Amino acid sequence: MKDAELPYDRTRLNDNLAVDVNTILLRNQEFYDQMRAEVFLSTSVVHMSAKDKTLVRSDGGVTSFDKVFIATGCEAKRLSQDVPGAMDAIGMFYLRTPSDANAIH
Ligand SMILES: Cc1cc2nc3c(=O)[nH]c(=O)nc-3n(C[C@H](O)[C@H](O)[C@H](O)COP(=O)(O)OP(=O)(O)OC[C@H]3O[C@@H](n4cnc5c(N)ncnc54)[C@H](O)[C@@H]3O)c2cc1C
Repeated sequence: MKDAELPYDRTRLNDNLAVDVNTILLRNQEFYDQMRAEVFLSTSVVHMSAKDKTLVRSDGGVTSFDKVFIATGCEAKRLSQDVPGAMDAIGMFYLRTPSDANAIH
């Protein structure tokens, strides 16, 4: 996943902008260890081969799979793409990650 943190409840980011991500994790590391699930933080899948059943990660590694579930979600639309200079305005923030929330706080 691209995120730097274990999966968390994104909808709770606006409850408390000074959020500590450890308080909104969906599962802790122990859960993934018990499930023998390896979580690749700050890592994107950059290529998938359905034929070879492999994923190439942005860290250069390759992960094999039997089945793959793609749930890439969405990203905040960047205002600067449509309104040049908009993000230069003081007080303009995006809210999608814990670091975004902390920056607003
Ligand atoms: C502040 C805030 C409040 C919200 N409140 C509500 C609410 O009250 N009610 C509601 O219904 N919804 C709310 N939402 C929306 C809700 O968070 C989203 O609808 C939900 O997160 C979508 O979940 P998802 O798993 O589909 O996608 P996402 O949460 O976007 O997760 C997608 C994941 O895929 C990963 N990913 C993407 N591309 C790649 C790639 N190439 N390689 C590896 N990983 C990749 C990303 O890193 C991410 O971890 C809120 C959102 C925010 C930001």
